[in-house]
This record gives sequence, C-alpha cells and structure tokens, in this order.
Amino acid sequence: MKNILVINAGSSSLKYQLIDIDSRKVIAKGLCERIGIAGSMLTYSPTDGEKVQIQRDMPTHEVAIKMVLEILTDSKVGVIHDMAEIAAVGHRVLHGGSKFSDSIVINDVVLQAIEDCIPLGPLHNTANLMGIRGCQAAMPGVPMVAVFDTAWGQGMEPSHFMYALPYDAYETYEVRRYGFHGTSHKYVTGRALKLLDNPKARVITCHLGNGSSVSCSVAGRCVDTSMGLTPLEGLPMGTRCGSIDPAIIPFLMKRMNLTAQEMDTLMNKKSGMLGISGVSSDFRDLTAASEAGNERAKLALDMFCYGVKKYIGAYAAAMGGVDCIVFTAGVGENDRNVRESVLKNMEYLGLDVDFDYNMTCPRGQEVCLSKPDSKVKVFVIPTDEEMAIALDTDELTR
Ligand code: ADP
Repeated sequence: MKNILVINAGSSSLKYQLIDIDSRKVIAKGLCERIGIAGSMLTYSPTDGEKVQIQRDMPTHEVAIKMVLEILTDSKVGVIHDMAEIAAVGHRVLHGGSKFSDSIVINDVVLQAIEDCIPLGPLHNTANLMGIRGCQAAMPGVPMVAVFDTAWGQGMEPSHFMYALPYDAYETYEVRRYGFHGTSHKYVTGRALKLLDNPKARVITCHLGNGSSVSCSVAGRCVDTSMGLTPLEGLPMGTRCGSIDPAIIPFLMKRMNLTAQEMDTLMNKKSGMLGISGVSSDFRDLTAASEAGNERAKLALDMFCYGVKKYIGAYAAAMGGVDCIVFTAGVGENDRNVRESVLKNMEYLGLDVDFDYNMTCPRGQEVCLSKPDSKVKVFVIPTDEEMAIALDTDELTR
C-alpha cells in the first residue's frame, strides 16, 4: 500500500485527499475552512467511516496540515497508524507560466519558480505556496510534487497561444494563452484515448462546471484551449463573462465610471450565467427557472450551449477533424439538456448521438453517448483531478 496525500490549497481553505495509489482508492478526504479567520473548521470523511467536523483555531496552513495529519493518524477515527505511511504529497498549483510543461518534484528552485509566477496568478499561487510550505514544515523529508493547471496548455504552438498584441507584451509581461483545467483535460483525454484504443486520436474535451473550458488535442498533446492568460477567457461561465470584445472594457469603464479593479470584478463575479439570468450561476437553478418560463435564464443557457458548440466546430477545424468529444465536470457530467443542446445538429461532423440514452445513462461513470456506427465517439468521463495529481506524484517519486 502506497499512500499519496493530495493537497489543493486556497488562500483560506485547504482540500485534501489520501489516496491508496495501488488500489486507486480514496481512503479519506476533507477540507479545512477559514484558515487564518475566526471559526476555522476541519471536515474529515474517511471512506469507510463517519464524517467528523472539528472546530479549532487554524491560524496558518501549517497548523491546518498538522490537524489533517493528526486526524488521519487518530487512534479512533484515523485511517493510517503513522505519518510515515504517507509516501508523498501532490500539490495542485494554478500557474506554472511557461516554466512548467509537466508536473515536477518540488525543491528550492521549483519553489522559486512558482513564486516567480505569482504575478500571473496572484491569489492562487500565493495560496498554493502557503500549502506547500505548510506541508514541508509539518512533514519534513516527505517528497512533494507540484501539478500545474497550466502544464497541459504548454503543448500549444506559438501561433495558437499568442495574442496579437505588441510582441513586447509577451516578451516582457509573459502575456499569452496558458489555459487552465489542464489536469482535468489531460486526465479525461488519457481516459478517452484508452477507451478509443487509439493513442493518436483527435479529442475535444469539454470541462463544463462552474468554470468552463474546452480544449483539443492530437495524440494527447494540447492543440488549443479556450481559457487564456487567466481563466476569464472563453465560454461564458457561472459568473465570468468569457470572451467579449476587448473594447467593451474601456467603454464600460468610462460609461459606468469603474476602476480597473471594479471592472475586473464585474467580469469575473457579476457576469456569465448569473449576470445574464439575474437568477443564479448554478445550472440546476437556471434549468428550473427556464422551465418555469424565465426568459433570461433560458437565454443564459442558450448562450452557454451555443458557445460550447462553436468551440467544438472551431477545434474540429483546427485539428482537421475530430475522433472523439468528451463531456466532464459538474455540468458536463450531469446536465443532460446542456449535452443535448450542444450535440444536436452536429451530424455534419460525423456525430450520430443516442439522444435517448443521453437522457437515461447512469451518472458518475464513463459512458458512451454515440451510436456504435458514429464516426465521432461521444463520451461522458467523470473527471478526477485528485487522482490525476496522485498518479503524477506517484510516478515522479517512485
Ligand atoms: P467547479 O469545480 O468549477 O466549482 P463543478 O465542476 O463542480 O464546478 O460544477 C458545478 C456546476 O455543476 C454547477 O453549476 C452545478 O449546477 C452543476 N451541476 C451539478 N450537478 C448537476 C446536475 N445534476 N444537473 C445540472 N447541473 C449540475
């Protein structure tokens, strides 16, 4: 049994999973909330036991991780006897800039490089670093691996990742398309290549959740991806506007008298499904509202599905065709209506979808929505970013 601890650190939160890599089983998982804020709380859910919640001060990430280790090794509710049973730790890191095209074992040079990427992902990278440093302090000597959300996008050619701004914006300020959700796109693409039994296939992956992105790859190498320098570009999302005419930004700033920060908040937090519908950013609420006759909720959903459809068409063109389309994440795995809207009238691409099965297929497992003779296969593949992080961590620390 080799256990890997997977850590996803936010500025005041820390999600963790302990995974037995040999059996690919999650042994326990949980969350530390309100780190550094009054009322900190640890939630712990062992797979074969009762959920536990503990309220105790967690002033820093290091204290939070110590609490996680304490409960994992607790004589009553713990799942391991000793910290020594944790072979390695995998950390999710948001931004690796152009420095990391793959996961890497963490050392001082890597830490410095992650720090150098802070301007590209200020909130996340700072939090990720707190998680790593907290772990290093609490678990000295245990090997740690950084898994970057941007690594997948490093597969893109310059003509696909550059923005047509003055070249200096790229050279001096590192402005380019990086893409996000990379761990998820890579994981479901890997699964699709296995299901297709074709390591060279052209795959379009639709990661549709609260944040959404579409990506495409040939033979497992990213060709393009819809998010950009930041996760704001691409599809309209829960509360993000996605791609808009960039001239709207100075236009609205002037008309609404907004600062750059306020405009950023408008685009990231008040737009997208929430901004259009005025109802919610949650697709379940939007569907309910739309079915009850709310025109703006329907408009938001229509805009979203149209956006995904356009990316599929564009990416099929970019790759000279497509062999497989994958739906994943909260909306992609669960929202049958969204999948239907996206996939209908796509026969021209070689899709023959079983729309009845789309409405009845089981949730939470890999299913094929295309008919047996469909030229293009359509899969729903549940994403598992923690498992992907654990697998990379295992490979690099073996
Ligand atoms: P993220 O990881 O980006 O926070 P998720 O991938 O968990 O997001 O997706 C969250 C979204 O998935 C929410 O908008 C939610 O409405 C949607 N979702 C979850 N379950 C369902 C469902 N059964 N039907 C429709 N949408 C769902």
